[in-house]
Amino acid sequence: YGGRPSGLVTTRTTCGYCGVGCALDVLTRGDELVAALPAGDGPVNRGHACVKGRFAYGFRVSEERLTRPLVRRDGRLEPAGWDEALDVVARGLREAVASGGPDAVAAISSARATNEENYLVQKFMRTVIGTNNVDNCSRLCHAPSAAGLTAAFGLPGGTDCFDDAQRADCLLVVGANPAEAHPVVGARLLQRVLRGARLVVADPRAVGLALHADVHLRPRPGTNVALFHGLAHVLLAEGLADEDFLRRRATGLPELAELLAGYPPHRVSAVTGVPEGDLVAAARLYGRAARPAVFYGLGVTEHLHGTDGVRALANLAILRGAVGGDRGYGVNPLRGQNNVQGASDMGALPDQLPGCQSVTDPVARERAARLWRAEVPARPGLRIPQMFAAARSGALRALWVIGEDVCATDPDARRVAAALEACPLVVCDELFPSETARRADVVLPVASWLEKDGTFVNFDRRFQRVRPALAPPGEARSDFAVVHAVAAALGADLGCPTPAAALDECAALAPLFAGLSHARLDREGAVCWPAPDADRPGEARLYRERFATADGLAHLSACPYLPPGEEPDDDYPLVLVTGRRWAHYNSGSMTRRGGNLRLDAVDRLDLHPVDAAGHGLRDGDPVTVESRHGTARLTVHVGEETAPGQAFCAFHFPGSGVNTLTSDRADTVTSCPEYKVTAVRLRP
Ligand code: SF4
Repeated sequence: YGGRPSGLVTTRTTCGYCGVGCALDVLTRGDELVAALPAGDGPVNRGHACVKGRFAYGFRVSEERLTRPLVRRDGRLEPAGWDEALDVVARGLREAVASGGPDAVAAISSARATNEENYLVQKFMRTVIGTNNVDNCSRLCHAPSAAGLTAAFGLPGGTDCFDDAQRADCLLVVGANPAEAHPVVGARLLQRVLRGARLVVADPRAVGLALHADVHLRPRPGTNVALFHGLAHVLLAEGLADEDFLRRRATGLPELAELLAGYPPHRVSAVTGVPEGDLVAAARLYGRAARPAVFYGLGVTEHLHGTDGVRALANLAILRGAVGGDRGYGVNPLRGQNNVQGASDMGALPDQLPGCQSVTDPVARERAARLWRAEVPARPGLRIPQMFAAARSGALRALWVIGEDVCATDPDARRVAAALEACPLVVCDELFPSETARRADVVLPVASWLEKDGTFVNFDRRFQRVRPALAPPGEARSDFAVVHAVAAALGADLGCPTPAAALDECAALAPLFAGLSHARLDREGAVCWPAPDADRPGEARLYRERFATADGLAHLSACPYLPPGEEPDDDYPLVLVTGRRWAHYNSGSMTRRGGNLRLDAVDRLDLHPVDAAGHGLRDGDPVTVESRHGTARLTVHVGEETAPGQAFCAFHFPGSGVNTLTSDRADTVTSCPEYKVTAVRLRP
């Protein structure tokens, strides 16, 4: 990009879309954003960016952008000043606490927000309100990763860093379509394959990397655990397990071996629909590789037994000895949103304080209480689905939603809307008049990722700086400033007046982050956690000496396969899977308000030609999709990427009603919704 025009200011920041964490140089002239260029020295992207980070910034100046607070008067949202809006919020919070106690208030924090904002939200809820009712949108995507990886290895993050993928000789990519959802990583994985690494893809759809795979396994949605156990069965049966590693560094083999005896390839093939030969071939590729690596996405987690899926996947790496050493690159979740790892790391969770410390741990609670000079409640709070249930029952009397369009993105959307309507006070921090904002009592206009100061953590536990390239429009403020202002309206002072001070305070509280600061990140560019010491590099690869479990061992899991919550039947004969497309991001609130809409303007229902013909549908036809929970209207796309008996659509166009189709069934361990399996029928 030599020869930039003069008069431009360059701001180095981190992309606010997906969890890859591409470093961008944002060029501005006055208050105009001229370009967002991928940074050549970006630690993950190295000069690349995708169509979202590179071009989807037009939303910033959309006429729909919220620039003033809105307060509901006589049933209508009307512009108000900040003083009035904060007064309404403070009064509503006081009334909720007075009538129902601190646990009558809840906050949904956000992967859209910085670490420092998430830190401040959870501190506000715990110290000013006095409740652990704080959660974030990882509940809807990778909560099973946190639970499953912690159970297997001890910490709720990926075991290795992305650079290791460049050294792997076999990639096992499961339940993910990185070519669209994480395009820069998808491209780097493909480059690795083109240079000779073997590739196994396990995903129902034939898209992206699957087209380049040595073996493509297409399991029926909801049968992952059986598939992973089938692969593990072959590893053991063919002597591909690392017995030395299992003896020295793992536990649980006898129980797992007994369970796996019931998962021979022919039986797994009957459950999953994967041909027996493909299953064996995939296990041999992974099992015989010198340095295999696993990358996985929401196709593993968003299931009724998503945590079991993560644990069964971790079994493969443990059996193979491909984690915590030099013989492989572990198990790595491809996090969907920019800061979904960081939001949880900062303690915006109902059961965790910052730094992955349990609220039930008296030592961690005492440390926080000393630092915050306030009692820290010991009882875990409500998870997001429990918040909505409590609102519908009348137990929850105030809900603060920060940067999430829960009415568009959460499952069984009609019940979410009913919860918001039943809640006496709903406050919403937003960029646009979203589905959630329309139902709020107070809407607070906030800064976007291009206008914020702080840090994000990407999917390989990498802290990177976020810097404001521009000022927020009108009266919009950062979420950081808004949380401080709400606390002040309640007569409280949260301390840590700047994002840098907030990260310093978090570092003092959380041993995992003790060596982190804005100054260090400004100097070094990026640091992976754990970073307990300011003088030593962060740990990009975990568990070289011991695992972070209580006994220091990796834990194999003997969890049996259990069927999904919903199976197709005569009334609802197709299985709907939802996911992402390359030009858009989540509810599309930003990517639909810019040039990316020209690239991908309608929400499609992908159907196999057999199913399309069976319904008399052709490419481009409108179709009504019905589930037991709701109805959506989409446009048919016919193609062989979707397997017969299945359908696929994205959730980027809330107007089509996709999340009225999905159910409120959720992972039995973490409450992550079962987005990936919904039985539907079509009406042309
Ligand atoms: Fe990179 Fe993801 Fe942003 Fe694309 S959306 S530029 S892959 S961080």
